Amino acid sequence: MALDEYKRKRDFGSSPEPAGAQPRPSPPGRTPRYFCVQKHLASHLHYDVRLEHNGVLLSWAVPKGPSLDPAVKRLAMHVEDHPIEYGDFEGVIPSGYGAGIVMLWDYGTWTPEVDDVDAALTKGDLKFALDGFKLKGSWVLVRTKGGRWGGGGDRAWLLIKHRDHWAGPVDIAEFAPLSVKSRSDFADILSAENPDVWRSKRPAKGGDTGAMFETIIARALDISARRAGSTPLDKSGARTRRKTPARKSR
Ligand code: MN
Repeated sequence: MALDEYKRKRDFGSSPEPAGAQPRPSPPGRTPRYFCVQKHLASHLHYDVRLEHNGVLLSWAVPKGPSLDPAVKRLAMHVEDHPIEYGDFEGVIPSGYGAGIVMLWDYGTWTPEVDDVDAALTKGDLKFALDGFKLKGSWVLVRTKGGRWGGGGDRAWLLIKHRDHWAGPVDIAEFAPLSVKSRSDFADILSAENPDVWRSKRPAKGGDTGAMFETIIARALDISARRAGSTPLDKSGARTRRKTPARKSR
């Protein structure tokens, strides 16, 4: 079934992600249905674009995130279908597949600009309109040469904005970086759970992603320490007082 791969990759005993109930049918034809984009800091930062269809969320991982510039084609790797309940998930995946932080970056409805979504997917050319908080207007997902629909092989597609009055030169990922669910950034989301969850093993070490985790974890520890009216724990677990208290207005 559609969610087999999703379930096989995850241990729901240790992951907070929803296990997913039975797929439910989606409205037919050009009727609006749910979409979301989850900003996911894992082994690499990416944006998971998910479109409800046939009772699941069709999913593409977009490393650089959507671009509002029609001249920019963003690589979108087709990944396994996700359950509908995943659509408003935001939180920390402590370990295992996708370990890291998930932010609900945008959501709303999408409307196919074709009559037959399945045929469009098989053809590798899905035109659609988005009505989210950040993403709007007309878009297309096009399969690259050699790309395939379904399991195996090259799953490379391109996500491209069509030219309309929602297109423009603004870098939307930079302009609107926060959660539409909680207005949180990654550090806020991590601090709301256990900011010290990766003390021994980080989802990514070194490089840009490792550096991002370093910064986010430090900020999350700081936020939760301030919330507790205390000072952060150092590596040995002892409470330390900073020589120059970091005062950041947030
Ligand atoms: Mn992801």
